[in-house]
Amino acid sequence: MKIRELLKKERTISFEFFPPKTDEGYKELFLHIQNLEKLSPSFVSITYGAGGSTRAKTRDLVLKISKENKINVMAHLTCISHSKEEIIDILKDYKNNGIQNILALRGDFPQGETNHIDKGLKHSTDLIKIIKNNFDNFFSIGGAVYPEMHPESKNWDEEMKYLKLKKEMGMEFGITQLFFDNNRFYEFIDRCNKINLDIPILPGIMPISNYNQIKKFVSMCNASIPPKLNEKIEKYPEEVEKIGIEYAIHQVEDLIKNGVDGIHFYTLNKSKATILIYNEVKNLI
Ligand code: FAD
Repeated sequence: MKIRELLKKERTISFEFFPPKTDEGYKELFLHIQNLEKLSPSFVSITYGAGGSTRAKTRDLVLKISKENKINVMAHLTCISHSKEEIIDILKDYKNNGIQNILALRGDFPQGETNHIDKGLKHSTDLIKIIKNNFDNFFSIGGAVYPEMHPESKNWDEEMKYLKLKKEMGMEFGITQLFFDNNRFYEFIDRCNKINLDIPILPGIMPISNYNQIKKFVSMCNASIPPKLNEKIEKYPEEVEKIGIEYAIHQVEDLIKNGVDGIHFYTLNKSKATILIYNEVKNLI
């Protein structure tokens, strides 16, 4: 089902997975998917490796979950280093297989990689345009949004100008970069309202389970960890998982009370933390 239709009917719950690197990783992932499908997610999404590095793996995982688990799936797709023709091939294949939702992204080259091939697609707007021009309204199109600003944007005016352009080109809903301070999210929603963006924005939540991993993520994507949360984890490092789950529960409760359109969980291919959080907040959803 198209996510734009779902968002008219319900507050969505969604889970993000990435294609594992090993057979063992796939076995584990499908056990976690079995656990998570009991929560009846509105959709799940599968990441795409920058520059097409997981092209076949993303496609196969999207189709397998859609066909075998009968879960509504959104495929992430990045456009840098693909040509327009390659993108159209990928989308035709999804269309033929009944996949109706695409998260349209630019993507990033891995740090330090300089030998990439530029095939003309430079921004998510280029990808959104291809989807709209070649497939009418077949796909529901989402895009990435950044409550703490994309690291490459010079200022908020620039950030919001291009976000508005993404919407005008055909982006129907946004999913946020992970964040830990809900005030940053609410400030961002105010900025969206000021430019009349008027599309659903789904907050992306990642419960902290491994402090070093989170520190790496936040430094890469311009997100901040509130000082009180930082201090607590540094004081009780052996309790990081418990602290992370409790924090995420409060974060999600507050977001739902403030009327968000849905919650998107960055699961890191696990189920325990997401299930614990979901069970605490399900009565509010
Ligand atoms: P863009 O929308 O192109 O924006 C990048 C920068 O360019 C911003 O500063 C923006 O303001 C500016 N900009 C936008 N359009 C234009 C334009 N037309 N002209 C000039 N400037 C413009 N990465 C992956 O590799 N695979 C994934 O599966 C993946 N999934 C993600 C899921 C979510 C929910 C999020 C938030 C991010 C994800 N990413 C993924 C990371 C993403 O690819 C990076 O954050 C990347 O740096 C930007 O992608 P974008 O689509 O936001 O780019």
